[in-house]
Amino acid sequence: MAFSRDIARSLAHLTPWMMADVFIIGALVSLIKIAGMAHIELGISFWAFCVFAVLLLMTTQSLDADWMWFSLEGEPRAPEGTKTGTTAASQNVTGCPTCGLVNRLSSFGENRCTRCNEKLHQRLPYSLQRTWALLFAAVIMYIPANVYPIMTTTSLGHTTTSTIIGGVVQLLQMGSWPIAVVIFVASVIVPVGKLVALAWLCLMIQRSNELNAQSRTRLYRLTEFIGRWSMVDVFVVAILVALIRAGSLMSITPGPAALAFGSVVVLTMLAAITFDPRLIWDAPTPRSTRRKTATKEPVDG
Ligand SMILES: [Zn+2]
Repeated sequence: MAFSRDIARSLAHLTPWMMADVFIIGALVSLIKIAGMAHIELGISFWAFCVFAVLLLMTTQSLDADWMWFSLEGEPRAPEGTKTGTTAASQNVTGCPTCGLVNRLSSFGENRCTRCNEKLHQRLPYSLQRTWALLFAAVIMYIPANVYPIMTTTSLGHTTTSTIIGGVVQLLQMGSWPIAVVIFVASVIVPVGKLVALAWLCLMIQRSNELNAQSRTRLYRLTEFIGRWSMVDVFVVAILVALIRAGSLMSITPGPAALAFGSVVVLTMLAAITFDPRLIWDAPTPRSTRRKTATKEPVDG
């Protein structure tokens, strides 16, 4: 059963990287882009792939992780002596991020899940530092992603380059504003919004607790969910480059921005994964008590 356990565990890690649905939107956008330059007919495999993506999405949505782990490995009891009503951290136990089972941690705050063998930490080590580092790297990569061309189009020996924003403007001029909106949301609003949201969550953890933890957790879940949709423009470039290769007659090549933008998406996704949402729930010491202990200390010492 160890084999099926490993498969089930990998499934949980792979889910955010399954992007068949994003790919379909990318394929539709590229088809509309090409429609202006060439005559396009959709083959049967396009529709088959659409059905596959929808079914894949429905399958992953309908899979009940609790039921899956219960039928694979059973439901072991909670560790001896665990109490309800107090936090897991104070009892040195933690819920497994993959299968949800409550496990006792070693004195170093680490262990492996007794059910799915996932590595457990009371809090992900250096979560904030790693998230900040990945966010900074993403911000740096976002500059070349917007400055350099994302693709170069050669048509009858005539070469034109377009940036991400340039492509949106071009689509607007062509009159296909719904596609322009899709690309603008996926390539500008989603990545920038995600960077701002994650940076804000990291800052708020280090400072005061102004917004309640529940809505901050909701914001985190949202950034985790929307991040993958930024891949639309990367898929569009990949599809166009693969489809249109007729030499100097008509060809499309990717620009340096495509790689830079792809790395922004991957870096922000990794930043969301390394961010430990449990930190949101580690209640910071209220300011009044913090001041009190601060003034008390010299008296005690
Ligand atoms: Zn587990």
